[in-house]
Amino acid sequence: MDNNDKVKDESSTPPATADAANSAMPPAQGEDIDGMTNHQATDESLTPQRWDQPNVEGVLPQGEDIDEAAGDEQESEGEDEEIAEEEQPLEQYLDLKGEALRVLVVCAHPDDAEFGAAGTVAAWTKAGREVYYAIITRGDKGSGDPEMTSERLAQIREREQREAAAVLGVKEVVFLGFKDGELVPDLTLRGAITRAIRQFKPHILITQDPTALFYNNRFINHPDHRAAGLAAVDAVYPTARDHLQFPEQLAEGLQPHKVAEVFLIQSEQPDILVDISETIDTKIAALQKHASQFEDPTALGDRVRERAKELGEQGGMEYAEAFRRIIIRR
Ligand SMILES: [Zn+2]
Repeated sequence: MDNNDKVKDESSTPPATADAANSAMPPAQGEDIDGMTNHQATDESLTPQRWDQPNVEGVLPQGEDIDEAAGDEQESEGEDEEIAEEEQPLEQYLDLKGEALRVLVVCAHPDDAEFGAAGTVAAWTKAGREVYYAIITRGDKGSGDPEMTSERLAQIREREQREAAAVLGVKEVVFLGFKDGELVPDLTLRGAITRAIRQFKPHILITQDPTALFYNNRFINHPDHRAAGLAAVDAVYPTARDHLQFPEQLAEGLQPHKVAEVFLIQSEQPDILVDISETIDTKIAALQKHASQFEDPTALGDRVRERAKELGEQGGMEYAEAFRRIIIRR
């Protein structure tokens, strides 16, 4: 599990995010794409040989079937073209002008926030926004070193996270004290995140998309990421808002709070890009503070830069980060 998380965070998370943006953007556009997805799924799962075998005619002796297969393929290509025409670039997030908004980032592990949102966090702190971190675990399972202990690792990763946050201009980092690898979206976790929301009163909460289970049929999203995201959105609505929820927090002096927007990282349905062209170097510098999680900081930087570039190309920017943005109706 440690290594899974480590590997996922280092290599699969950014690609997953980037790939997700690349592949999932069209599906976000509408019904036609659902049709295409179903169509493809049927073809691939029921008759994979038609697509995988170069000599289709040898595989399918029936002339009609061959024609049908060819027809399906043509139809599919036609749909692809249609989709390409309808495809729109991800919307650019521009609401930065002089708004001293507060932002709370809620993530499962040290380094999750940097992979998903460090460029945005750096851009926002530069623009005068106050950004706070609530990191749910101290990443105490994320090591492949047989000599490493959870307690020592937790200390290392907490320090790395604080240093990374400092690079980004984050105002305060709190650790919610849960164990790495054991997160479940229960009321205890929701209560802890609710407390952080009521404490920092963010306009925008950034967390991990709880609906992402698989990425491109190649990666399983870490259960801690899903649990963190689900507990965080549940805390946003309705728990942090309602004064009868966790009333003991109010007795301590905290007040109910309504979050205005949720930005989801690691989403398969991103719909917004934030321009990080001026903060990509800061993002990489922050990520490189998580030195326990990778061996080659230069390679990490190159990989992160490449992903950000791919995302940026979708919106006419040099570098970007992608989010699924939920604007909560008042
Ligand atoms: Zn993680």
